[in-house]
Amino acid sequence: MSSSELPFLPFALPDIDDEDIAEVVDTLKSGWITTGPKTRRFEADFTAFLGDPSLQSMAVNSATAGLHLALEALGIGPGDEVITTTHTFTATAEVVRYLGADVVLVDIDPATLNLDVDAVEAAITPRTKAVIPVHFGGLAVDMPRLLALAKRHGLKVVEDAAHALPTTVGGRLVGTLDSDVTVFSFYANKTITTGEGGMVVTRDPAIAKRIQVMRLHGISRDAFDRFQSKAPSWYYEVIAPGFKYNLTDIASALGLHQLRKAQRFQQRRAALAALYDEALAGLPIVLPPKAPAGDVHSWHLYPIRLGDAVAVPRETVIERLFAAGIGCSVHYIPLHLQPYWRERGGLRAEQFPHSQHAYERSLTLPLYTRMADGDVARVAAALRAAIA
Ligand SMILES: *Cc1c(COP(=O)(O)O)cnc(C)c1O
Repeated sequence: MSSSELPFLPFALPDIDDEDIAEVVDTLKSGWITTGPKTRRFEADFTAFLGDPSLQSMAVNSATAGLHLALEALGIGPGDEVITTTHTFTATAEVVRYLGADVVLVDIDPATLNLDVDAVEAAITPRTKAVIPVHFGGLAVDMPRLLALAKRHGLKVVEDAAHALPTTVGGRLVGTLDSDVTVFSFYANKTITTGEGGMVVTRDPAIAKRIQVMRLHGISRDAFDRFQSKAPSWYYEVIAPGFKYNLTDIASALGLHQLRKAQRFQQRRAALAALYDEALAGLPIVLPPKAPAGDVHSWHLYPIRLGDAVAVPRETVIERLFAAGIGCSVHYIPLHLQPYWRERGGLRAEQFPHSQHAYERSLTLPLYTRMADGDVARVAAALRAAIA
């Protein structure tokens, strides 16, 4: 059978079943389609999923919004510096600029593709206020080391956990660690999806309160609560120029059911990753880094790196896979190569040798729950041919 007869294998695909659809339809028929009862349930279920009732989970309409709210609540502003990895999506860093603060990019540890904690330490200045670790591909950052470093220097920690549901560090779920705020994404290609959406998690009541106010126009409920005895539900007070970052009940309906499947999705992703490892063993490529024994890798992504023995350029490999009906991606074009970040920071690729090398040699293979075992074999065979 020629490859043209095989269906195209996308790089990612959401896994939405009849149950998810029925909940969305129920919402549409309920008369309440924006933030309401389903969003409150989604938030409560999310806290229950993380298994720590001291956490407050707050739904937002994207992880980008969540990261913005987190930094705003922590008081990040002009003159401050926030450290993050160059090997990420621009959303991680752009939110720092929304607040007028400066982004300081650091290189990665080539063994994990996560930010290099030593590089974070070296980048700290008197202006540094916070650090944003990204759990790349769903493999946790060395959080015990990073949190200890942050504590020593009085830095806030906001985890970009867009890839990390569910991921564990030392047996604890990302979201339950000792960082100030953790932000998850439910974008279409993430491990669970609401189309667009995100969840902000914190244990700090003051941060939670500020986020709740700022995610909806800076409207405070306190005055309403005080006013409650006379009970006009029309009364509210605007205490800040807030944002429009609330999640709709239509999206939360999807999230409620996606969340129930998060563990099953992870198991399927992990099984597919193991099949890839087996099928690709012996090829001149570097397989994705693994989680330490006993820890959970969410397997949001399966990024491989072409070894030095592969003479075929990465672009050609991607073209050949595409010609074989297989969609790939690249994670990431590092921020230091993006015109805005490069020019603003006066950045050069030599400052980020590990990210640069990973970028030049990386491609991300298809990985999603609805892939069949045979699809992995097909990708492996196509890759073997493509790099020959
Ligand atoms: C997807 C992603 C985001 C942004 O998530 P949205 O929900 O689309 O705003 C942020 N950081 C990383 C690392 C991502 O992959």
